[in-house]
Amino acid sequence: MATIIEPFKIKVVEPIKMTTRAEREAAVRAAGFNLFKLRAEDVLIDLLTDSGTSAMSTHQWAGVMEGDDSYAGSRSWYRFEKVVKDLTGLRHVIPTHQGRAAERILFGILCKPGMTVPSNTHFDTTRANIEVTGAEALDLPCAEGKQPGLLAPFKGNMDVDALRKVLAERGRARVPLVMMTVTNNTGGGQPVSLANLRAARAVCDEFGVPFYLDACRFAENAWFIKQREPGQAGRTPTEIAKEMFSLVDGCTMSAKKDGLSNIGGFLCTNDDALAQQEKNLLILTEGFPTYGGLAGRDLEATAVGLEEVLHEDYLAYRQASIAYLADRLDRAGVPVVRPPGGHAVFLDAAAFLPHVPRHEYPGQSLAVALYLHAGIRSCEIGSVMFGKPNPAGGPEVPSRLELVRLAIPRRVYTQSHIDYVLESVLEVHAQRASLRGVRIAEASPHLRHFTARFEPLT
Ligand SMILES: *Cc1c(COP(=O)(O)O)cnc(C)c1O
Repeated sequence: MATIIEPFKIKVVEPIKMTTRAEREAAVRAAGFNLFKLRAEDVLIDLLTDSGTSAMSTHQWAGVMEGDDSYAGSRSWYRFEKVVKDLTGLRHVIPTHQGRAAERILFGILCKPGMTVPSNTHFDTTRANIEVTGAEALDLPCAEGKQPGLLAPFKGNMDVDALRKVLAERGRARVPLVMMTVTNNTGGGQPVSLANLRAARAVCDEFGVPFYLDACRFAENAWFIKQREPGQAGRTPTEIAKEMFSLVDGCTMSAKKDGLSNIGGFLCTNDDALAQQEKNLLILTEGFPTYGGLAGRDLEATAVGLEEVLHEDYLAYRQASIAYLADRLDRAGVPVVRPPGGHAVFLDAAAFLPHVPRHEYPGQSLAVALYLHAGIRSCEIGSVMFGKPNPAGGPEVPSRLELVRLAIPRRVYTQSHIDYVLESVLEVHAQRASLRGVRIAEASPHLRHFTARFEPLT
């Protein structure tokens, strides 16, 4: 049987609202042509992010009812802790309300001005939480990861030779930890191989530096290892995930991704003294160490989600669905980043709209066009997000790539929704010559993509 089906049936449905083109024009104008400022109910297919947008299973909802909200020592906490310990093998588990809370606690304790935290590529909240301490967040992606069209199995890998150089130069005293982000979100959701994790571990051992996982998409990464890494096909995703965690001294996690939960996260470490400091800080800002800012029901939903996310039928379906969209677009001549990552398809807006100059934000123009045409909300990841003022004056310095991300929420949309997205992108592609750029009418100095107002150019 060639068709890979959704390994679930639908028990509860959430209606989505059809809108007319005129209604979408009014909505996007009122939002200043910024899709973050739309009301979600005016969106038909919401591909803004895969974070916190998963559909929960019957078992998770049953867990929600079972949630124990005792302030200290709740049953839900012990269930959560056991699942996380079984998965990671790490000694201390600290619950947090989401990933960035784990990051803030970890880096707040370990990082000082003048220090450096190397990574394959830091996610933006990770980078920000390092930089706010005065330390440097250093990206060391592998060479293949820097070429968007190149087909390679593990484009999320770290450049381990570069890591060795950094550690040799700066030494243990100035590198408090090394991080590996799986999958490499900022690098397009590309996976990291077990071989690369082992090599990075070995270099960290040489210099006595702790090695951490940013584990947000550990299950998607494990699935790619099973599919692509020599010798791994016969292992289960759970066995592979456990090996990934066995190579590290600690991890940060957002349960809003591969926790299949709408909120939650955790921080783990094998270091007893560090765990004590982390719990002290947790109590100050998140909550008592047996709930960490979460309700008992959230701990339950995550405990169940962390096990479900490793089911092979689920991972096969998820990857097939994303690869289907990317491959069909590619075959029809739409420029996409290849191979597709684990949670999203990325359109190359600079190649899609070659007549729109970079300082007129082709990614924003394409994202707005997709919404106007079909009610699809995507996310610009280009010069609106990363453009920099030009010190010499004149147009901004554009970001390295102009991408539009179609992030696929977990277990939310069906195959016909994916086909609708596919057709919509193809239709917008057919009209691409008529699309024009935008200009920024108003923007804040930091993280402007969330709040900027745009005006279409004519
Ligand atoms: C989402 C994400 C985070 C931050 O998690 P939040 O739950 O959004 O705070 C950190 N790292 C990566 C790789 C992520 O994708």
